[in-house]
Amino acid sequence: MSNFNEERVLSVHHWTDSLFSFKTTRDPAFRFRNGEFTMIGLKVGEKPLLRAYSVVSANYEEHLEFFSIKVQDGPLTSKLQHLKVGDPIIVSRKATGTLVLDNLTAGRNLYLLGTGTGLAPFLSIVKDPETYDRYEKVVLIHGCRHVNELAYGEMITKDLPSDELVGDLIRDGLLYYPTVTREPFRNRGRITDLITSGKLFADLGLAPLEQAHDRVMMCGSPAMLADLKTLLVERHFVEGNHGEAGDYVIEKAFVEK
Ligand SMILES: Cc1cc2nc3c(=O)[nH]c(=O)nc-3n(C[C@H](O)[C@H](O)[C@H](O)COP(=O)(O)OP(=O)(O)OC[C@H]3O[C@@H](n4cnc5c(N)ncnc54)[C@H](O)[C@@H]3O)c2cc1C
Repeated sequence: MSNFNEERVLSVHHWTDSLFSFKTTRDPAFRFRNGEFTMIGLKVGEKPLLRAYSVVSANYEEHLEFFSIKVQDGPLTSKLQHLKVGDPIIVSRKATGTLVLDNLTAGRNLYLLGTGTGLAPFLSIVKDPETYDRYEKVVLIHGCRHVNELAYGEMITKDLPSDELVGDLIRDGLLYYPTVTREPFRNRGRITDLITSGKLFADLGLAPLEQAHDRVMMCGSPAMLADLKTLLVERHFVEGNHGEAGDYVIEKAFVEK
């Protein structure tokens, strides 16, 4: 049996010249945990051209959703950005990844720190009722350069709070903090600077980050992850993985080539 399913594109949404999202059909047998990624791609000639993608949709939803960069000379995304409704897309039958609730120990607040398309895995996590069973407050921070790159902002602030399944939990438990670095906006600055200066916590009315009660998931560029990891290690946070749950977990949003 093939390791891949062929799905069909159901809708496409372009956020900017360099970011878009799309929904696809979902084989009911494809199972994943919220926060995981899978391999998706296109057939080029007879060969599949595949890349890792976090699943944006929650694991109880009927369709799949992905949030993608458009790299102009990127082998996959130079083609993927032209997807149309009805087009076929290859999706692996398996999903994996470290950004899952089971890799973290219990705590009071869960911080989800994402830059760029690193927001993607956290969109399924904030839609998971289990997230709010485990943590009192879930703080979703999305960092970008420009305001128009803050994709999904409306879904998070308008649609999710009225969602039938998780609306109540989200209204009580989710704090959303979008921030940009290169133009005026209500929240400005890099995530690391906002943590170090304490501005993030002052703005949200929360105590500063502390290993005793906070847990962290992060997904972004290799440089952003390295800076955040240093900051957490200085504060005595211990990294979790599939072998052993810890205080924080990391996933690269992409690999620098
Ligand atoms: C675990 C994991 C999960 C991922 N999840 C996603 C996801 O949900 N959405 C997504 O768009 N990409 C994601 N990626 C990156 C993705 O696998 C591809 O790299 C991306 O789709 C570009 O493919 P490409 O063939 O066009 O270019 P590639 O040859 O793969 O990449 C070319 C260059 O583009 C840059 N780049 C690639 N992806 C990104 C990105 N997402 N943001 C900023 N710069 C980038 C890097 O500098 C890279 O070296 C993920 C990668 C990993 C390792």
